[in-house]
Order: sequence, then structure tokens, then C-alpha cells
Amino acid sequence: MRAIRRFTVRTVLPEPLAPLDTLAQNLRWSWHAPTRELFASLDRDLWRDLHGDPVALLGALGRQRLDALAADAELVARVNEVAEDLRRYLEEPRWYQAAYDSPDKPDAIAYFSAEFGITAVLPQYSGGLGILAGDHLKSASDLGVPIIGVGLLYGAGYFRQSLTRDGWQHETYPVLDPDNLPLSLLREADGTPARVSLPLPGGHVLHAQVWRADVGRVPLLLLDSNVTENDDSVRRVTDRLYGGSADHRLKQELLLGMGGVKALRLYARLTGTPAPQVFHANEGHAGFLGVERVRELVQGEGVDVDTALEAVRAGTVFTTHTPVPAGIDRFGVDLIREYFSGSAEIPGVPVEKILALGAEDYDGGNPAVFNMAVMGLRTARLANGVAQLHGKVSRGMFHSLWSGFDVSEVPITSITNGVHGPTWTDPLFAQLAASHLDAEAIASGAGWHLGEEDGGVPDAELWAVRRQLRSNLVESARQRVRSSWTERGASPAELGWVDDALDPDVLTIGFARRVPTYKRLTLMLSDPERLRRLLTDPERPIQIVVAGKSHPDDEQGVGLIQKLVQFADAEGVRERIVFLPNYDIEMAQTLMPGCDVWLNNPLRPLEASGTSGMKCALNGALNLSILDGWWDEWYDGNNGWAIPTADGVEDQARRDALEAAALYDLIENTVAPRFYDRDADGIPRRWIGMMRHTLATLGPKVQATRMVREYVERLYTPVAASYRALDGVGYLGAAELAAWKRRVREQWHAVRVDHVESSGAEGTVSVGDALNVHAYVTLGELRPDDVEVQVVYGHVTESDTLETFSVRALELTDTYEGGRYAFGGDVVLEASGAFGYSVRIVPRHAGLAGPTDLGLVVNAEQ
Ligand SMILES: *Cc1c(COP(=O)(O)O)cnc(C)c1O
Repeated sequence: MRAIRRFTVRTVLPEPLAPLDTLAQNLRWSWHAPTRELFASLDRDLWRDLHGDPVALLGALGRQRLDALAADAELVARVNEVAEDLRRYLEEPRWYQAAYDSPDKPDAIAYFSAEFGITAVLPQYSGGLGILAGDHLKSASDLGVPIIGVGLLYGAGYFRQSLTRDGWQHETYPVLDPDNLPLSLLREADGTPARVSLPLPGGHVLHAQVWRADVGRVPLLLLDSNVTENDDSVRRVTDRLYGGSADHRLKQELLLGMGGVKALRLYARLTGTPAPQVFHANEGHAGFLGVERVRELVQGEGVDVDTALEAVRAGTVFTTHTPVPAGIDRFGVDLIREYFSGSAEIPGVPVEKILALGAEDYDGGNPAVFNMAVMGLRTARLANGVAQLHGKVSRGMFHSLWSGFDVSEVPITSITNGVHGPTWTDPLFAQLAASHLDAEAIASGAGWHLGEEDGGVPDAELWAVRRQLRSNLVESARQRVRSSWTERGASPAELGWVDDALDPDVLTIGFARRVPTYKRLTLMLSDPERLRRLLTDPERPIQIVVAGKSHPDDEQGVGLIQKLVQFADAEGVRERIVFLPNYDIEMAQTLMPGCDVWLNNPLRPLEASGTSGMKCALNGALNLSILDGWWDEWYDGNNGWAIPTADGVEDQARRDALEAAALYDLIENTVAPRFYDRDADGIPRRWIGMMRHTLATLGPKVQATRMVREYVERLYTPVAASYRALDGVGYLGAAELAAWKRRVREQWHAVRVDHVESSGAEGTVSVGDALNVHAYVTLGELRPDDVEVQVVYGHVTESDTLETFSVRALELTDTYEGGRYAFGGDVVLEASGAFGYSVRIVPRHAGLAGPTDLGLVVNAEQ
């Protein structure tokens, strides 16, 4: 029978256990082992069956059990102790309050992301982007950085993956019940749910309620369109992550960006917390946040669009995550036009101004599309990629937006990703470290170099814990394989072999990630015979655990999964290679610590950073990876292995075959022999040496706290300063900057370098000599202090290209009639070899982020 009404009955805890509610609601439990242990101790079987979900556990305990627990004085004391620990964590000064000393540091930072991966209990992520966002918030909380997260609450999150009999990915979308999640609804003072709303074309309105999750100290606001005021189609806007048509995605992104700013204002009004000075768009999806803030200023403060844009841009940070042009979010210009005109037009903000932000109006651009990454770059003061190599690739990818400058000057820096240590270090491993080393020795990594005699972790103990972690993985993999096969229609009688699948003493290689083609899930199958030999080697066998979801619309990805599953299904290898369906945070937390080696073989340089290998490193596993993303930067010859790449080979199939052969060679000749090289006690001393080196050197670097500190120091704080400089009464600074930019753009056509002379260094010169450069320029209507005339100099190649160069500003020396000027200065020759220089003119203003700010430059031509 179908119920006609539905509501959620909440458990009321007996008074002595009341703090458990607070402990369940604050997601700090997801990375705080003592809190999880407290919940587990209430009922271990239930805890396991509910996949470690505290809210579900409290709901399932039942009156009698709760009353019995409430009468247990020892338990009640522990509840109070853990609650007190949480209270201290939330209130005490942390790094940002106690140690970070900058007059410009922001009072609040808003962090927007389309996905957040915090715990498997809240499945609001598809992969690395979301997990990174989750780790960013958790680490900000640990550091006391005043961040507020903004995202969407998807009714069904990302899909649940299972397999059909023949290995085809099957997707289901279990609907979440927010009332049974660690979320609370933002409410007005009178208790009614608070709302934000957005105009849609055709006079429609999109209403949303706002859920709040507490990630330690960090609030995360999640917008949800599933409210009764919306008609059916609008209710479905937040139905699932990355699903549906372009129109559907655009509505999601409008809700995230524009609705997200409204949700922040709502939150500030209800809680009295300060407004953010910094808005961080994590990837292009959230780009419309700039449009909403422009709207606020135009309508609320009465400033013009250009002034508003300057003020907004001064306080915005944009992070790009994809080095693949096809991975960038684009919409048809017509679709965007529809959403910002007619009844949805923003008074005072012409649609043309919005279209210009995402226009591909550069060489090679497509005039029919609106590019979310381009909008991200144009509306941000500072931008970054997520590893050094990715920064470099991004500068190349977006060079056309700054085509007059050298590619190295494209204003996209990089901050290498990190992972949240307490989330990704297995509690067993963390305990091992803590039982021998103090916090400082662990944090600095130095403790891993200590031998047994110095109080360090003994090899034998280290190896025993590694075996335990491998064993835990084997155990959990067997369960997953069994239930997957049962779902695929196998009978128990057919599944006897599963008890022997995987072996806690065999070299274990892990491979898990989303399955876009560039990650090359099936590279290991290039030579199936050779792989089979490695798996079944009688002396030095390997075993491989594979997992990953493919986007449902990506037929090729789904096909790759099937190919792998069919290989792994075969008798003879199925005990040594398994595919585990439904990769998620819960699986990752057993998989990564349990592997000895983490394999990553993307098509270089298409992996922006990758983070799963970092999680492994925290547990002493070694990386075996193509030199891409973070590994390109931090591989040092002793912390794992680099798979040689065939970068220059154009033929994709041949490149795959070459790189696969190199991978097999490495495993067969280097990795496996080292793993199985044991001393009389059965301990692989050289392997353990590499583990210790990894823990000591990568351990501190891969931390997301390191990453968040870099964001704070290099991006958030400077952006807070530039925002405050323009945020005065009437936005006069922003208005002045906007007017100045308009004038410079209008007059720029007249700017040119007429003539350049140099003296003081003729023919052969020596290091230390000075070169005197004089440039004669025409500036038209512009004034000499509107520009900087620069000499660009350094080593030149045979084709007279300046590859790495320095830049020095020349001084005004003479003023002539007709807007002509002379600029001059000395350049000291600091290195021997072929030297060259050029002269250029760039706009100059104290309010600019740098010489590339307007994208305008005039280079000397002679
Ligand atoms: C860490 C993680 C990812 C991201 O891994 P990459 O190495 O960046 O591909 C994806 N999914 C889950 C469940 C993870 O834990």
C-alpha cells in the first residue's frame, strides 16, 4: 500500500546521552577516530551494518537499548568527555587565530563547489574534485580558517554502481532523506524554513531551501530545490550530480553560483556572522557567483556594472581543475541569453555584459559558446591550477586570453593539491605512529627516520601493521566480490572460490579512480598474457584491486569497465585481480591503506593533480605512476617508481603499448623482486627503507593543511586586501579603476613603440657591463604614468627567442609633442652567453593585479 503522507520521526535521546546528538551532527566524527569508536561501542553490529553512520545508528538503537546505555555511568562519562573534546576543538584558537599574522587576513572566505566529498554518508561527490573540496573544508577547520562552504544538496547524490552479469555498469539513484542526514535546515526566527529564490525565463521562479552541514568549525550550506513552492520540473533541479541536459546543468549552476551568494547572505542575516571578503570558485561550475554579486552592487548600491565588476573581481579566486579543453563546462550563448533576458533580465546588468565574461572572443575560440572557465578567469583577481605541471599546462591552454604576453606570464599560478591527513590515515597506522613518536616527529616526518634504538617504529612492527592493513583489504574485498556476484545472479555454490580470492601476503597493487579515457583503466590489459603471468607467477605473484565509476553517458568508459571485469572474471586469474563495484570514500579508506603499490597511468599531461596516491603515501604505500600531476613534482627516485612515458609518440595505440610494456617491466624486474626480497626474519628491509623515506618526505607535503595554508597566504590574503581597497563608501575606488580601464582600452589603439636604441654594450661585452636602453614611444591620449615601458631581457636561443627572461621598468626621460615620450634605463648583464632584449608597453595602475591584468600589451617590432 502506498502511504499518502510521509514524515520523519526523530529519536529523542535520554538526557544523559544528549551530547551524542551534537557529536553525530558535526561531521568531525568522519575524521576523528575516538568519536567513531564511541559510536561503534554503542552497538558494533549495527555500526557495521549501517556503514558507520552515527545519525542512522542513533535512529536504529530503540528506546530500550538507549535507556540501558543511559544507565551506564562509564559510557555517559565517555560521551561527556568526547563532547568536551569537540567543544574545545570548535572554540580554541587554532593556527589562523594563534599563529597567522597578517593585517590583511580575511574575516570570512566563501568556498563554492559543485560537489563536496566529506563522508560516504553524504554522497555529494563523483570523484577527485569533490573529495578535494571536502578535504579543503576539513583542513580549514583544523587550521581555524574562517571558511564557509557553498554547494548543492543533490536528492540522489551521484549514482550507486553495480554490475550486470556480463560486466556492464548499472546505475541506481537511491534517494536520500535529508532528515536522516547530519544536516539542519536554515530557518527564520519564527521557525519557518528560510528560502532563497531566483528568477527563471518565462516568469518562473526557482525557490530553494538551504541545509547546513557542520564540518568541524566550518559551516557548509547546501541549496535544495526540492520544495513545495516549485513546480515539478523546478523541484528536480537538484535531483542528481552531473545529470541531465545542458539546460538542467545551467539551472544547477545558476542555483549554485547566484543562489549560493543569496544563501550566504541569508546565513549571515540569521547568524550575525561577517560577510566574506573572498569568494573562491572551485572550478567553473560556480562562476555565476560573480554575476549575483554584480547584481547586488548594481541594485543595492547603485553603482554601474563596470564598477561592480571591478569590486567583485578584486575579491575573487578561481581554481581550474582540468587540463583537457573538452573537460571545460560550456553552454550555448543562446541559452545563456535566454536566462538573462526577458523576465529574467537583471535591471542595470545588460545581458551583453554577462555574455562578454564567458565569450571565446579570441583566436581559436568558438563564438557560439559561453565558457565557464573563461568566465572564472575574467571574474577572478587570482587564479590557479592544482599542481606545478598543471599550472604550466593551464597557462598554455588559456594563452589566447593573454596572447601578447609570453606563455610563462599567463596569470595562472599553481597550488599543489593535498589530502586531509586524519581522514586518509588508517587509524591502525596512526596508532602505530603515535605509540612510538611524538606529534612533532610525525608532523615533520623526521620520526620515520628513527631506528628502533632511538625510539622509532621498529621494522617488524611496521611490517606487521602493513600486513594487517593488507589483510583488512583482502577481507573487505572478498565480501564485496561476493555480494557483487550475488547481485549478478550467481548462486552460493558457484562462489566457493571467493574465499580464496586475494592473499594477505601477496604484493597488492591498487588502481581506483573515475574512468574517463585519459586515466586508461585498461592499460594494464595491453598484453593480457603478460599480465596473467605476473598475476600467477609461482615465486613472486602480484594481485590487483580495481575500482571506479564511469559517467553513465560515457559509453567508452562503461566499455572499459566491462573489458576489465571480463578479464577479472576468468578462471585462473580471478583470485588475483578483482573489480570492486561502487567506489566511494568508505571503500577508499580500506583500499588505499591496504595496497602496497598504488598504480596511476594517465595519459600525460592530462591528470591535473590526482590525490589518491597521496592518500596511499600517508599509510606507507609506494606510488608507481606516470610522471603526471603531483607525481611529476614530487617523485624523487626513492619514494616509488616513475613509469617511463612515450610522450612524443603520436600514434595512441603505440604509445599505450610502449607505456604498458614499461609498466610490466618495472613490476617484473624491480617492484616485485624488491617486495619479495626478505631477510631471515621475513622482512623486506629495502622495501621498508622506501616506505620510511615516503612517510618522512611525502607525508608532510601531501597534507591538505599545507595546501590550505598556501591558499590563505598566496591567494586569500592578497585578494582580501585588494577587495578591501575597493570596498569603500560608494565604491569610489572601484569606480575610478573601472573608468581608468575604460579609458585605457579606448586609447590603446594609439599606443606604439616607435624606436629603440641601446648603448654601452657593443660587440663583445662582459658579465657585469651595463646596457643603456632608450625607447621612444607614442601614447596618444594616455599619460606616461598610465603605462609602464619595460625592457624584457635575458638569454636568447638560436632563433632569437627569449626563453627565460627578466623584466625591468624604464624611467620617463623626455616628453615630446603629440603624445610622444622617451623612456630609458640600464640593464646589467648578469650571465654569459647569447643575450637579447625587447621593449614593450603595458598598462599601469596601483589597482591592477599585475601587468597582464587587462590583457593589453604593445611589443616593439623592430
Ligand atoms: C581520492 C579519491 C578520488 C580521487 O582520486 P584521483 O587520484 O584524484 O583520481 C576519487 N574517488 C574517491 C572515492 C577518492 O577517495
